[in-house]
Amino acid sequence: MSEVVDHLAELTGFRDRDVMDVTLVSALRDLLEPLSVAIYRCIELGEEGCAQSRWLTRARLVAGEAVATADPLWADPSRLPPCSDKPQRLECMKSRGVLQLQQADGSWLTIFPLATEREVVGVLEIVSEQRLKSGAERMVCSVLRIYHNFQGLLDYSERDTLTGLLNRKTFDESFLKALGELPGSAACIEAGDRRHAGGARYFLGVIDIDHFKSVNDRFGHLIGDEVLLLLSRLMRSSFRFHDLLYRFGGEEFVVLMRCADEADAAHAFERLRHNTEHYAFPQVGHISVSVGFTEVRPGDSPAAAFERADRAVYHAKDAGRNQVQSHAALVAAGAMREQTQLSAVELF
Ligand code: GH3
Ligand code: MG
Ligand code: MG
Repeated sequence: MSEVVDHLAELTGFRDRDVMDVTLVSALRDLLEPLSVAIYRCIELGEEGCAQSRWLTRARLVAGEAVATADPLWADPSRLPPCSDKPQRLECMKSRGVLQLQQADGSWLTIFPLATEREVVGVLEIVSEQRLKSGAERMVCSVLRIYHNFQGLLDYSERDTLTGLLNRKTFDESFLKALGELPGSAACIEAGDRRHAGGARYFLGVIDIDHFKSVNDRFGHLIGDEVLLLLSRLMRSSFRFHDLLYRFGGEEFVVLMRCADEADAAHAFERLRHNTEHYAFPQVGHISVSVGFTEVRPGDSPAAAFERADRAVYHAKDAGRNQVQSHAALVAAGAMREQTQLSAVELF
C-alpha cells in the first residue's frame, strides 16, 4: 500500500506531461512486474481532409529494461503505426472500459482507456504472463483516476476555458524549451547535438481575426465566442499534432511550430488562412484571418519573437488583411526594418 502511495506522490510531483507518462509506466512496472507496460496516444493526422489516426508511443517499459522509450513529439506522424492495426485499443477507447484478452503466445493483454475532461485520448496497455487479477486491475484503475484528475488540474491551469487551447501563461516556458533545442544552444552542445540531428527550427506565428469587432457588433458576444471556438478547431485541424497552439487573449492566437524551413511554416499558416476563408461559420458566414510569422532565433526572448511576428501581422492588415506575411520576407523585400534593438518592455 505504502509503495502505491509513494508512486502516486512521485506521479503528481511533476508538471511536465512527458515526465508524468514515464513516471506512470515506471510505477506500474514496479507494482505489477508485467512483461511490458505502455501508454499509446491516438493522434489524428487529418491534414487536408484525409483524416487518419496513428499510435504515438508516449512511454513504454519492457521487463528487464531500465529506461522507458517514447516516440519524439515531432516524430513524422505518417511513419507511426496506423490505429487500425490495433482494433482492440480502439474498441477499449470506444467502450471506455477495460479490455482483457489472451494473446496467441499465451500472454495476457489488459487495455485501459485514458481520458481527459473532453475525450478519450489513448490507452494504457499492460502485457503480463498471467491474467491480471481483479485487485490489480482495480488498483490500476484507481491510479489512472488520480492521473486523470491531476491532468485535469494541469489543463485547468494551462488551458483557455473557451477554446481549450494553451493559455498565454504557459508560452514562455515552451518557448524557452524550444530555444534549448536550437542547434548551438547550451543544451544541444551539452548533448553533443545528438538528439537534434538535422537541427531543429521553430517558427512563431501570430493570428488575428479580421474585423472581429464587427462580428461582435452585428451578432453579439455569444456568437463572437462561438467563432473563436470554431476557429480554434480549424487551427487544430490545420496544424500538426505537435504544434503548440495558444489563445493569447481576445481574438489573438499564437502558434509555435517545429518545422524544416520557412517554406514549410508558410505553407502551414497558409493552410489555416485558406481553411478559415472557406469555412461557413453558422450565422456569421465567412471571416478571414491575418497571420504574421517569424523564425525563432538562438538567444531570442519570447517577447522579441512575438513582436516580430506581430509587426508582420500589422503589415498584413495594412496590405488588405486575409493574408500571411513572413517577417524575414518583409525585411528582405525592404518593406520592414529589422529591429536591431530588442524591446526592453516585457510583453509577458
Ligand atoms: P482588425 O481586422 O484590425 O483586427 O479588426 P478587429 O475588429 O478584429 O480588431 P480590434 O482589435 O479592434 O477588435 C478586436 C475585438 O475583439 C474587440 C472585442 O470586442 C473583441 N473581443 C476580444 N475578446 C473577445 C472575446 O473573448 N469574445 C468576444 N466575443 N469578442 C472579443
Ligand atoms: Mg486584435
Ligand atoms: Mg482583429
